[in-house]
Amino acid sequence: MLPLSGDFSQLVNHVNSLLTLYDDSMSKEDKLKIITSCYALEIFLTEKEAGQLKNKELFDWMIRVGNILYDSLCYYNCYHFIKNKKTHEFLLQDAYSCLDESFDKVCKLPTFSRLLKLPCEKDDSDISILFQFFHDKAPELEKIYKDVLAQHKLFRFPFFNDNLQFFEGVHYMDYWNQSSYVFLKPNFNQLYQFTSLVHELGHAYNSKKTYQNMPFYQQWRSCCGGLFSEVFSIYYEQMFLEYCASNAENKDVALLNLISYYDSYINFLDDTIRLSQVRDQALLYSVKDDYVEEEFLLNDFACSPIYGYGFLFANYLLEHPEEFPKFLKFEHKDFNYDTLVKNGFTKDNLTKSLVKRFEKNFDKY
Ligand SMILES: [Zn+2]
Repeated sequence: MLPLSGDFSQLVNHVNSLLTLYDDSMSKEDKLKIITSCYALEIFLTEKEAGQLKNKELFDWMIRVGNILYDSLCYYNCYHFIKNKKTHEFLLQDAYSCLDESFDKVCKLPTFSRLLKLPCEKDDSDISILFQFFHDKAPELEKIYKDVLAQHKLFRFPFFNDNLQFFEGVHYMDYWNQSSYVFLKPNFNQLYQFTSLVHELGHAYNSKKTYQNMPFYQQWRSCCGGLFSEVFSIYYEQMFLEYCASNAENKDVALLNLISYYDSYINFLDDTIRLSQVRDQALLYSVKDDYVEEEFLLNDFACSPIYGYGFLFANYLLEHPEEFPKFLKFEHKDFNYDTLVKNGFTKDNLTKSLVKRFEKNFDKY
């Protein structure tokens, strides 16, 4: 951890050496923004409370810089998304409407109306379901989990903050030391908390596996702003929820978690389609900060493509695990429709897998 005692020489040295890792096409100012935001995240998440920081000004400054960076990555992503918005709409519209229709039917089943009326009781899940899942389905995650624990890098969210309210968990990769930090928000629904853990471990596994030989800037871009940066995490998240629905002791809680998982990702698909309907000019004006009407829309929806595509591709890969090698080839590249289609990731195939998987999951109920 960085010392926060007021002597920042170590920080300055560290930042200077990181700067040399960047590729030369970026301005020094941009490089600095990215590096400081990494530190912002590290400090932000590991101190017990903001009030306990020894240098609150530094903390506040880093959070500000971090937010600017996060926004600019989202805008960068949005900009590329909007450039191809017709294609995105074409790819996602069917997936959304077909799944939404099936979802509606399932929610009307007697099982679900009964479940939704249950009071929110405390869920005393046993952690053994997690290890059973690792053993049966994802030994690669168990290894990562054991490493995170052994290095004492599993944390609860240290304090509640507006910036974190939409996150159930956060993964942060310390590229300098090639190790992962995982943060979880406490939740009375333990199965749900295990699910967030599995999601973050999915990020950790992906980072470790793919980013080791990439330049620093590229690593950061692909983990935070790339269109496919949520595929691995959602892939494992869904796999775990499905496993719980079949194997957990508390089947009611497991089922409710699975249905609310689908509910939230259907919403991400919907948000992504709405984003593709934003006028091209809106983004440009919003970046210039003098356009109000659609700005809030962009802010609210900026990250939805990452989750919408994560969900879509996770389902495709759960249905067709043999297609993983093809996916890995374009995972970190910029969006290219022709490459997707050439590799079999067509609109029909993606939609079919999504709906088929959903119906398989709920057929038995
Ligand atoms: Zn994630």
